[in-house]
Amino acid sequence: MSKSRWLKGNLHTHTTASDGDASPEYVAAWYREHGYDFLVLSDHNHVTILDEADSKPGEWPLLIPGEEVSSRIFDRTKPVHVGGIGLRTLVEPADEGDIRKTLQENVRRVVAEGALASINHPNHAWAITAEDIVATEGAWALEVFNGHPDINTFGGGGHPSPEEMWDFALSRGKRILGVATDDSHHYVDEFSPQLGNPGRGWIVVNVEKESEEALMEGMRQGDFYASTGVNIHDMKVARDEIVIEFDPYRAELFTTVFRGKHGRELATEEGQEVRFVPPAGELYVRATVYSSRGPMAWSQPLFSD
Ligand SMILES: [Zn+2]
Ligand SMILES: [Zn+2]
Repeated sequence: MSKSRWLKGNLHTHTTASDGDASPEYVAAWYREHGYDFLVLSDHNHVTILDEADSKPGEWPLLIPGEEVSSRIFDRTKPVHVGGIGLRTLVEPADEGDIRKTLQENVRRVVAEGALASINHPNHAWAITAEDIVATEGAWALEVFNGHPDINTFGGGGHPSPEEMWDFALSRGKRILGVATDDSHHYVDEFSPQLGNPGRGWIVVNVEKESEEALMEGMRQGDFYASTGVNIHDMKVARDEIVIEFDPYRAELFTTVFRGKHGRELATEEGQEVRFVPPAGELYVRATVYSSRGPMAWSQPLFSD
C-alpha cells in the first residue's frame, strides 16, 4: 500500500433502473456531494451506464459499471445476489434449484465477463452459509458489512456474522477479500434505521492515479480497506511489521484487534498508530478497527506466503 492516493467508493447502489427511489443521475450526484471518489451503480439484473458527457464537471464520482446479479430461488424466498464490479454486459441471474449451485453459477458468469464478483449479504433471509462461501470458486470478495436494514449484517440468534463467515472461509484456505457497502435504495425522503439509505459502508482504495483501471487493479489486489466511518491515514507492511495510522475525527479513539486463523484474537492495540508483528506460520492476519464513535473498519487479510 502507501501509493499516492486513497479513493473512497461504494460498490452497491440501486436506482430507479431497479428498485431504488431516485434516478441514476440523482444517486451519482448524491455520492459526489458526500465525498465519494467512485461509485458502482449496481441495479438488480440491469447494467446502468450513465453518459459521463451529460455530467457537469465534477458532478458525479468516477462511475464503474456494475450489476447485482439477483437470483431468488425456492419460490423466491432465498436471495442469491452476486455483485459484478466492472461489468459492462448484462449477466442474467441463474436458477440452479439450489443455493450453492446458483451462487457458483452467478459468480462464474460475472468472472467470465472479466468483472470482480462479490458475494452479497449472506444473511439476507439467512440464505447463504459459511460452507457455501467455502464451496464457491472465483469470488473476489464477501460483503462483511452491508448497510441495508434487512440484511442482518451482524448475525446473531445463532447465526454467524459475515465477518465470522469470512474467518471461517479464510481458515479453510479461501482467498477472499472483505468489502463494506451501502446497498442503498432510499435517497429522497426519510433517513432512518428502517430504510436503506446511502452513506453507511464503503471501501477506500490505494491507487497511483484516479482511473477505472487503477481502481479495478487496486480492488483486485486487495489494496483497500472497508469502513463504516473509520478513516485510515495509511496502512503498510514495513519489513515484517504491519503499521496502521488513523485520521481521528475530533476526540475519536481506536481499538484495533488483529485476528488470525479461525478469527483468533492475536493482539489488541490502542492508539492513533498501531504496529503488529504477525507470528511466524499464521495462515493469515487481518485487522478489525473499532472507533469510540461506533464505526468500524476492516483491513484485508495478509497471507503468510
Ligand atoms: Zn442484494
Ligand atoms: Zn442490493
